Amino acid sequence: METAGRPDNHCDDPQLSRLRIVLVEPSHPGNIGGVARAMKNMGLCRLALVNPPADWAGEQARVRATSALDVLQQAEVHDALESAIAPCSLVLGASARMRSSRWPQLPVDEAAALAFARAQEGGQVALVFGREKSGLTNGELDLCHALLHIPTNPACSSLNLAAAVQVVAWEVYQCWLGNEKPVSSTFEGAPRVSAEVMEGFYDHLFTLLEQVEFMDPKQNEHFRRRMRKLFHRAGLNQKEVDILRGIFRACQRKLGVLD
Ligand code: SAH
Repeated sequence: METAGRPDNHCDDPQLSRLRIVLVEPSHPGNIGGVARAMKNMGLCRLALVNPPADWAGEQARVRATSALDVLQQAEVHDALESAIAPCSLVLGASARMRSSRWPQLPVDEAAALAFARAQEGGQVALVFGREKSGLTNGELDLCHALLHIPTNPACSSLNLAAAVQVVAWEVYQCWLGNEKPVSSTFEGAPRVSAEVMEGFYDHLFTLLEQVEFMDPKQNEHFRRRMRKLFHRAGLNQKEVDILRGIFRACQRKLGVLD
């Protein structure tokens, strides 16, 4: 039976099913089960795990998942964050610490509104959570279009992984229920193409910049981050990516480095 056009299991809703929760190297199976439950309570059922422990779906996880065993059992396992987010046109990373302005930052309610708006438009969205002990690395944050932070007591600012997922999932669910906040004007956009397409674009850009000896292949981490921020903000569509890569190829042809 459906209520007001909504499926009984809200996980079957096409908008909510475009949002995936990605856990990067979670170490405790109990937390993975707790995340599955937190998700299903809020109608989110796509769980992706990057390098989980061997017993990620074992007894400890199952006990915590309870009625969300299906979410746990259907979880995708990846060996790199890149593949877990490859189809997504919006990737938001949850961070317990406010980081430097190298990454755009959003309060959790605005992040949820942005994520839900993108899913409503038909885009795939990833909400990425870090390791229990050390969170997400700078390299992983570079793959995100913006960071989201849940305001907490500074004396104890880091939430348990499943609790952090619960708060974010609840905010997304409020949007789905129609209680959303307006999408942030402080975040000017994210690419309309998938993370996989954007990674191909960055590879091409940085290869060209090395070929013209603008940058040293081993250095320039900050420069690379700045370029990512710039192009993420631009919100490129596929046509624009094609034009820019066409320009890169023309430069490479002139340099004589195109195969
Ligand atoms: N000690 C780690 C915290 C890890 S908590 C650190 O300082 O980074 C595990 C994960 O839960 C984090 O990587 C983050 O994704 C999420 N999380 C915990 N507290 C959060 C908060 N206040 N806001 C946003 N995400 C949070």
